[in-house]
Amino acid sequence: MDLFSKFDHVIAERDRLIELNEVNPFDVVMDQVISPTVAICGGRETMLLGTYNYMGMTFDPDVITAGKEALAEFGAGTTGSRVFNGTYAGHRAVEQILCEFYGMNHAMVFSTGYQANLGIISTIVGKGDYILLDIDSHASIWDGCKMSDAEVVPFKHNDSSALERRLSRMPADAGKLLVLEGVYSMLGDVAPLREMLGIAKKYGAMVLVDEAHSMGVLGRNGRGAAEDQDCLDEVDFIIGTFSKSVGTVGGFCISNHPKFEIMRLTCRPYVFTASLPPNVVAAACTSIKKLAHAREKRRRLWENSRTLHEGLKTAGFQLGVDEPQSAIISLIMPSLKRGILFWSALLDEGLYVNLARPPATPAHMTLLRCSLCADHTLDQVRQAIDIFTRVGLTQSLIPYRDQRND
Ligand code: PMP
Repeated sequence: MDLFSKFDHVIAERDRLIELNEVNPFDVVMDQVISPTVAICGGRETMLLGTYNYMGMTFDPDVITAGKEALAEFGAGTTGSRVFNGTYAGHRAVEQILCEFYGMNHAMVFSTGYQANLGIISTIVGKGDYILLDIDSHASIWDGCKMSDAEVVPFKHNDSSALERRLSRMPADAGKLLVLEGVYSMLGDVAPLREMLGIAKKYGAMVLVDEAHSMGVLGRNGRGAAEDQDCLDEVDFIIGTFSKSVGTVGGFCISNHPKFEIMRLTCRPYVFTASLPPNVVAAACTSIKKLAHAREKRRRLWENSRTLHEGLKTAGFQLGVDEPQSAIISLIMPSLKRGILFWSALLDEGLYVNLARPPATPAHMTLLRCSLCADHTLDQVRQAIDIFTRVGLTQSLIPYRDQRND
């Protein structure tokens, strides 16, 4: 028995995709990255409209200097776990900055956001406990649930009454964790956190909110959707990542729970892996400090998001949300095949967006996902709308009409 035979259908699908296209949509190489919004792909200058670089921090001069200095001073890596030789001054410093950024007592940094969800969820719930989660949750949340031995109870996306119905049927004295995301990354829609937190508290559930796509983007101080909805104090655990607005790599969990520090000894994806390299934590530290005060950048990001949403809607595309709720704007494609052809034609025109397809997408949709950066100029956003419109008309994805007058 060849253990790889279970992948045959995936191999067939991948080969079909490659046949349709000269470029494999899941194997694009950035030969050179010029700025947060421009790269060279396949020899062509390409506008990046599909990265998580919401605040453009990857090329921030202070972030780069901090990284370079730490690399020179502390070396290329720690070669050890946080609980052995892998905690440097920089790891402590970034945890301290995170506590200040969120105004909370404890912060624990992981090597990725994926590991933060995997580790925290699987450690705080166990056999006999319940996890309630939105059906559209990120893979790292599902994987954390799987690793936990708890009873996993999904509910309909962003549906507060579905959540309440499930909670009301659970044993009153059982341990319960509600897991939500601030912004859901496929459609870019926001969770009704305030309402759901109220329901969770009524039934004695603790709440974890993954703010991966909302940190830096939402809230007066960029703390995310919970800050924006004025309910940050009621969240028990915030999960975040350095791989989006922060502009580097790493993950974290923030909490006010008085016993939170015990996670450092009990959370396996924290203990049994090497810690982040010194240049990464130094870059993250500088970036987070700047994000707290980046109101003008946030304003530009929102202006870009609204401009793109408006332009695509006016052109006649079917979008994932009626109004822009985050820095993610998704176009719903009629089929996987049409989505791939459109994606590929956009790339030929020098525009890179993400192609998202089942099973990662809600309701088996094929999406072309755009994500904006505060560093996109309005000219770039208008140029992107022009490319979408031109290619959309050629491929009959939008109705022909006088685009200028609509
Ligand atoms: N949570 C969510 C909601 C995400 O979208 C992602 C990554 N896209 C992660 C966690 C994982 O983050 P990281 O890239 O740091 O592993």
